[in-house]
Amino acid sequence: MSARYVQPLRILIQSCFLGFMIWLGIRFYQFVLYFYSGSSTPFVERPGGIEGFLPISGLMGVSAWFKGLGINSVHPAAVVIFVTVLGVSLLLRRSFCSWICPVATISECSWKAGFRLFKRNLRPPPWLDIVLRGLKYLLLLFFVYSIVIAMPVAALQNFIYSDYHKVSDVRLLEFFLHLSPVALGVILTLLLLSLPLKNPFCRYLCPYGALLGLVAMLSPLRVTRDTERCVSCGVCSQVCPTYIDVMHKQSVLSPECIGCWRCISHCRFNTALSMRAAGRLAVPGAIFALLVVLLFWGGTLAGKWSGHWNTSLTIEEYARLLGK
Ligand code: SF4
Ligand code: SF4
Repeated sequence: MSARYVQPLRILIQSCFLGFMIWLGIRFYQFVLYFYSGSSTPFVERPGGIEGFLPISGLMGVSAWFKGLGINSVHPAAVVIFVTVLGVSLLLRRSFCSWICPVATISECSWKAGFRLFKRNLRPPPWLDIVLRGLKYLLLLFFVYSIVIAMPVAALQNFIYSDYHKVSDVRLLEFFLHLSPVALGVILTLLLLSLPLKNPFCRYLCPYGALLGLVAMLSPLRVTRDTERCVSCGVCSQVCPTYIDVMHKQSVLSPECIGCWRCISHCRFNTALSMRAAGRLAVPGAIFALLVVLLFWGGTLAGKWSGHWNTSLTIEEYARLLGK
């Protein structure tokens, strides 16, 4: 069966997640506004899912958990979402990046718009591409070293339960609501660069993506090429947003593969490319899509059911921390 339907399906799922995350952002803004307005606006329940935007808090929480401190009660959903995304990557490659992440969705819309505008996308020379790709691994190394390796357990505990960390989600919101000229310049530059270049932030600067790529290398699923059926047309290599030379691979192990299925969807000889588990069992696109959604939602539901979702911070504590 042709896998062409996978791209519209993926775009639909991306759009739903993007819409959901915008809704989360609006609800969280209304929650914060209640405190900033001195209770003159209606109270809105704080959405726990907003902690998905706190991956560093998630890494800290996982580090503390593994060091015997349990799942913290300040931002438990950040830990649950972090672990869930790692689990999704372990089973389904970096599908989080190409099916769920709102930053990658906006980035994909940008380079597609750039393609329509300029009739092509630019690719940095290979040597520069390799150097730039190294940046996200350096950033990952920095975070893993300073949080997981160098930070003593007591310091980790103190930071997690500090007032600063308690409202780190609010600080992030404020950062975006009151962008400094430098931050605005950086964001606009990245957005502009995302027109001619494919996913420059994800490819060069995102340490989360770097971590997921390394975890995904352990995934049993890989894009696999049937060398008997392949006619070496090169389309798969052309359409790959991460510039993997799929046509010359038997299976794609690269940490850059974001599991987007573009290569499989565009292969003119449909069975020449497939997503296979352990090089054998072919996974249909619809099942892959279903698994991405179910695993992600399943992970978050498990967090809710096990009582590791809503923060233990009380309304009174928020009033103390945010009272103006
Ligand atoms: S190899 Fe295929 S699935 Fe992986 S990123 Fe490239 S196009 Fe997407
Ligand atoms: S698109 Fe299909 S047929 Fe063409 S090179 Fe890639 S795997 Fe082979």
